[in-house]
Amino acid sequence: MLHRRDFLKLAATLSTAFGIGNLPENVSAAIKKISHNEIPKLIYLQGQSCTGCSISLLQAESPSPLSLITDFSQLVFHADLSAISGSQALGLIDNYVGGKEGEYILAVEGAIPEKMPEACMIGHKTFAQYLLEAARTMSAAVAIGSCACDGGIPAAEGNLTGAVGLQEFYTKRNISKPVINIRGCSVHPDWVWHTIVHLVKIGMPELTPDGAPVRFYDRKLHETCSRYHDFQQEIFATKLGEKGCLFKLGCLGPQTVADCSTRWWNAGKTWCVGANAPCIGCASPIFARHKNQPFYRISKKESIA
Ligand code: SF4
Ligand code: SF4
Repeated sequence: MLHRRDFLKLAATLSTAFGIGNLPENVSAAIKKISHNEIPKLIYLQGQSCTGCSISLLQAESPSPLSLITDFSQLVFHADLSAISGSQALGLIDNYVGGKEGEYILAVEGAIPEKMPEACMIGHKTFAQYLLEAARTMSAAVAIGSCACDGGIPAAEGNLTGAVGLQEFYTKRNISKPVINIRGCSVHPDWVWHTIVHLVKIGMPELTPDGAPVRFYDRKLHETCSRYHDFQQEIFATKLGEKGCLFKLGCLGPQTVADCSTRWWNAGKTWCVGANAPCIGCASPIFARHKNQPFYRISKKESIA
C-alpha cells in the first residue's frame, strides 16, 4: 500500500505524463469534494454488458490494475473482482448508494433495459432502481463502454429491451449529476484509468459536447492513421490482409472520433488497422445501431461522411 506522500508524488508524476497539469476553471463542486478525500471509492455496477470492458480495464500496464484499484481508487464493489458476494455484497452497495452524498464515484458498464427493467437485477432490485438511488448520493458517474454511454449492441436495431445509455436514462428523468462518457467496445484501459486519475488529482476533465473526455476523443482517428497517405493516393486493400487503406473494406476511421491511431492498444503494441482490421467505429455514439451496416462490408470512397 502506498503512503499518502508517495501517492501524491506518483499522482503528480502521472498527471504530468498524461498532460493534465492545468486546472480547469469549471471543476464541479461535487468532484472537488471527492478529490479532497484523496482516494475516491468506486462502486462498479453492470447492466446489459458482456463484461468485455472490465476485462479490458485489467489490461492496464502502468500503473498495474491492482495499483489502480487500491492506490489510485478504492474499488468498493465489482461483481467479478470483489471477494464478497450475496447479501454481504448487497449490504455494502446499499450502504453507499443509500448513504451520504459525495462518498463515491459510480462506474457503470452496460446499457439500461428501460422497457424491461427486470432483465437486469442486482439482488432484489433492478439495475435501473440502483441507478436512480445512486443519482442522489454519487459524486459523479463514469459510463464505461459504448453500452453504458449510448446503448451499444443491446440498443441495436430492434432493441426489444429498450436499452439506453446512462446519460439518456438520467436526462429523461431530469437528473443532472455529472456523467463522463468513455465510449469503445471495449474501452481502452487508458481512457478510463487516466480519467479516474484526473478526477482524483484535478477534478472533472474537459468534455466534448457528447460528454467524452476531450483528451481522448478530440479528432477522427483517420486523420492520424498510418494508412492515411494510402487513402489520399487511393491505394486501397481489396481483401483482408492486403496492404493499403482499408476504407473499401468498410473502415469507419473517417467518421470515428478516438485516439486509437496514435495511442494504440495492448500496451502500445498494435491497434485495429495496424492488425489489418478495419475500424468498426466502436467508439462512435451510433456504434452497431444500424443492421444494414455490417462491421465488414465493401464501401465506396464517395460515401465518406
Ligand atoms: S479509412 Fe481507415 S485505414 Fe484508411 S486511412 Fe482512414 S482510418 Fe486508416
Ligand atoms: S480503431 Fe475503431 S474499432 Fe478499433 S478500437 Fe478504435 S474506434 Fe474501436
